[in-house]
Amino acid sequence: MQTNFSSAQLTDPQMQASEKILRSCVHCGFCTATCPTYLLGGDELDSPRGRIYLIKDMLENGKPATGEVVKHIDRCLSCLSCMTTCPSGVHYMHLVDHARAYIEQTYVRPWPDRLLRSVLGFVLPHRERFRLALAGALMMKPLRPFIARIPAIGARLGAMIDLAPAHFPSRAVPQNVSLEGGLRGRVVMLEGCAQPVLKPAINEAARRVLARNGVEVVAVKGEGCCGALVHHMGREQDGLAFARRNIDLWIAEMDGRGLDAILITASGCGTTVKDYGFMLRNDAAYADKAQRVSAITKDISQYLAGLDLAPPARATGQVIAYHSACSMQHGQQIRDEPKKLLKAAGFIVKDVPEGHICCGSAGTYNMMQPEIAGQLKARKLANIARTRPQAVATGNIGCMTQLSSGGVPIVHTVELLDWASGGPLPEALAQSGFVHQPEPVLAE
Ligand code: SF4
Ligand code: SF4
Repeated sequence: MQTNFSSAQLTDPQMQASEKILRSCVHCGFCTATCPTYLLGGDELDSPRGRIYLIKDMLENGKPATGEVVKHIDRCLSCLSCMTTCPSGVHYMHLVDHARAYIEQTYVRPWPDRLLRSVLGFVLPHRERFRLALAGALMMKPLRPFIARIPAIGARLGAMIDLAPAHFPSRAVPQNVSLEGGLRGRVVMLEGCAQPVLKPAINEAARRVLARNGVEVVAVKGEGCCGALVHHMGREQDGLAFARRNIDLWIAEMDGRGLDAILITASGCGTTVKDYGFMLRNDAAYADKAQRVSAITKDISQYLAGLDLAPPARATGQVIAYHSACSMQHGQQIRDEPKKLLKAAGFIVKDVPEGHICCGSAGTYNMMQPEIAGQLKARKLANIARTRPQAVATGNIGCMTQLSSGGVPIVHTVELLDWASGGPLPEALAQSGFVHQPEPVLAE
């Protein structure tokens, strides 16, 4: 694609990077076929190619973003399905991240948007604030029909209340897990922000699986949100501040006793931490450190796949639909490892039809764009139902929350691996007949 940036504009390294991305697009439109928002609405401006044109115009003109551009960029899920499809290697993620930051700097949003985005940015990345907000959302559940009718923000407040779990999640219980066999690795595992509040059982299960396979998990005090939530809202500096804090802590550990990997159990966070090197490339004090951190960051499934795990300790054989989160398959290009691990643990793994299409979770998307997110959720649940699973496995807390009301228990992949290797049955499966009433396996 031809671009018309001035040489003054191209002195900005971020504009330079975006110009390079724009020039790599050949307008072929292949990406439109796999874009969820284009599939739903059929509007070219809600397709990757349409958004690329909008971003090009916005950046080239150097003028404040318009409401029309913001509408179509806000509707993008950042699912990155377009990146998997694109034959020209267009790095849409970096382009749309730049566009969101540009919008944040140049566009004054209507007050309901400003209010909700400020609240989400203030609450979600901080565990204790998020815990309090969850308690509030639970208390509000009976009032949901009235709240949903509040003009301008009711639908989004209703979506937030819907996403709160039915019961207040219990706090993580610190565990003493002793290593089995010889020491095979030393890692840190990102605790993050929302996941340890919503599902502390995920990292507990991961710790047990790692310990059974001789991997020491080092506790790092002070780490927190990876920065993805605010980064995707265009709050670039806030996102970078979270990144720098984690990098300082992890580099201290890497330069101290050494680390084999930084493990992430939420693929949305993994995509961002693997991108720290790019995000901080122009920061002289952090560029090298960020690269080093990104280079050893792995999704838990990637790491476990390289370990040659011990065989399962109990009979399994249940039918599991594997839902690959967009951040896993498109953001990190991890497709086979989780399924191979589940199969090696004795489960019968089913691919979900239309598995490349987003479930509508996408960070804060399901709260800010509840209508589109609801349509994608219904489509995903219908596709999952076609596999007749006894449970759904995935590797991202956002998808788990989005799909948890679908009638089929949904668990993290590592929770199933933990159970198969001798750990407790995941809570979501305990009441579902998962163990005692296996369903017949249907032919594909
Ligand atoms: S598939 Fe790639 S090159 Fe083709 S229009 Fe989409 S982004 Fe551009
Ligand atoms: S990131 Fe997803 S929603 Fe956004 S343009 Fe690409 S395919 Fe469409």
